Parts: sequence; C-alpha cells; structure tokens
Amino acid sequence: AAKAEGGNAIATFNEDMRAEFEIRTAIELSLRTSINDDSLHLVYQPEVDMRDGKVLAVEALVRWDHPTLGLLLPASFIEIAESTNLASELGTWVFRTACRQFAKWRSENADLDLCLRVNVSPAQLVGLDFLEGTAQVLEEYEIAGNSVCLEITENAMVSDLDRTRVTLRGLSDLGVRVAIDDFGTGFSALAQLKQLKVDVLKIDQEFIRDLGHSRGDLAIVKSIVSLAKSFDVDLVAEGVETVSAARTLLELGCYRAQGFLFSHPLPADQAGDLLRAGAIQPWLAAATGPVRK
Ligand code: C2E
Ligand code: MG
Ligand code: MG
Ligand code: MG
Repeated sequence: AAKAEGGNAIATFNEDMRAEFEIRTAIELSLRTSINDDSLHLVYQPEVDMRDGKVLAVEALVRWDHPTLGLLLPASFIEIAESTNLASELGTWVFRTACRQFAKWRSENADLDLCLRVNVSPAQLVGLDFLEGTAQVLEEYEIAGNSVCLEITENAMVSDLDRTRVTLRGLSDLGVRVAIDDFGTGFSALAQLKQLKVDVLKIDQEFIRDLGHSRGDLAIVKSIVSLAKSFDVDLVAEGVETVSAARTLLELGCYRAQGFLFSHPLPADQAGDLLRAGAIQPWLAAATGPVRK
C-alpha cells in the first residue's frame, strides 16, 4: 500500500525509525549494566594557555565501548541516561573515575597544578544527594575542591533558578568551581547569569569554528570576552580547530582554549604523558606567531 501511494520514502522513514528505536532500546537496556562493568571509560582533553602552551586543565569526557554497537559518543546515550533515571548513577561513576585518575596523576607528580573539569547533566544537578556525593568523592581521594570545576549548560542552570542557586552555593562551600558550558547557545537572560556566581564561561564551539572568517561570530565572541571581563570570570574557547581561530582569540584577549588544534581527547595514559611534559610546545607558538595588536 505504501508503494501505491508513492510511499517509498515513507517505508524508508519507518525503517529508519524502527532502527533508531531498536538502538535506543538496546542502549537503554545495557547502560545500567555498563556502568558497573568495564565498558565505560573516560578520555581527557587538555585545555591550554595559548600564549605558552601550558596545560591548565583537562576535561573528562565519557566513552562507551558497547558490546554490539561499538564505540559510542555521549551524544548517543547521555540523553537516554537522563530520561531513564540513570543520570545520577552515570554522573557519579564519571566523577569518581575522573577523581581517581586525578589522584593517580597527582601521586606521580606532587606539584601537579591542574584543574579537573567534569560535565554534569541537568538531571544529575537536581538530584537530592548531588552535593553530598560530590563532597564524599573529593574527601575519598583527598582532592581540594578548587582543583575541580563542574561544567553545567546554561539551560540546565536556568530551568530551575532557585534550585540552581542553592546547588551553586553548596558547591562554592566545597570550594568547587563552576563553568557554564556551551555558553552563548542557551536562553538565559544576562540578568539571571549575574545572580549565579559562576567561575568560568566556556564559549560554545559553534561561535569558534569559523571565527577566523565570520564577522557575525567575531562580534559574538568579542561581546562574550567583554562580558567575561566585566563579570570577572575565566573564559575558555572550545572547539579551536584552526590557527586562524586561535590567532583571533589571542587578539581578542581570550587565552584559554581547548580543541583539536591542540589535542583531541586522549586516553588517561597519554593525557598523563602530556601532563608530565606540562605544555603543548613548541609548535603552537610557531603556528600562532606573534600577536598583532
Ligand atoms: P562538551 O562538554 O561541550 O565537550 C566538548 C565536546 O567537543 C567533546 O565531544 C569534544 O570531543 C568535542 N571537541 C573538542 N574539541 C573539538 C574541536 O576542536 N572540534 C570539534 N568538532 N569537537 C571538539 P564529546 O566527547 O562527544 O562530548 C559531547 C558532549 O557530551 C559534551 O560537550 C558534554 O555536553 C557531553 N558529555 C561528555 N561527557 C560527559 C559526561 O561524562 N557527563 C555528562 N553529563 N555529559 C557529558
Ligand atoms: Mg564540557
Ligand atoms: Mg561545551
Ligand atoms: Mg557541547
């Protein structure tokens, strides 16, 4: 019948939908067990000071070696975790694993001066034991709160401002820093942001990708730089892939950056090698050259 109605496209659409549904179901069913066996792991992407290549921070990013679907990126399962009440469990696993790794790096290098950045999902943020759980893990691994920065998206923060305010105050009591992730893509009013005492803004990759040749992106990033200055928060550019984007950021006064130009996310041991080296050098300075004023 589908064919009679000229519905080849419809049949294909249904096939795609069914395939997607099957994948979702497979993910949902296996995510819970995956949290408890060895099939999740973290990779770590360095954030550098572009002026000298020094590694200032690493961001932990979750990966899943799915038994049948292969390596999955967070885009294909974080949302499913959120909608099946697994967000807290997954988030706790991520935070604990990242902190354990941080403690290991520190044990290999007593002067480790590094900020550990960990993403927190909206559902996790409103969990009742979120603050207590965070405090427990920090204590277990003897990590000072101010070595850790939690990344929260703008929309997650403003969906329940009162709750967010309480949570941020709790984190601040622990000394834990807070970053607004993907900044510029959300729907918050600046007045709301003023009330939330955040420490870091991470400019969304969308504005960075074509920064070298897009006037619109240049205008947006310029205004975010001046916003960060007036609020006195640190600023990080995400998704820096090209020398021209890096140069533009340097000229605008945004020195911290993360992106494939410097490093892809790395397995823990390779990230450890990079931390021992301390900086991504010297090709970076050569590539970006002296900054025009
Ligand atoms: P995010 O927190 O904004 O992380 C940055 C993402 O951009 C990562 O993707 C990273 O691999 C990618 N990236 C970094 N540099 C570049 C670049 O130069 N070019 C491009 N095209 N991409 C770059 P990933 O690992 O796939 O993570 C996607 C998102 O999933 C993250 O975005 C974050 O929102 C979420 N996520 C990742 N790990 C976790 C986690 O452990 N917990 C939670 N709740 N969310 C996570
Ligand atoms: Mg992030
Ligand atoms: Mg981001
Ligand atoms: Mg993102």
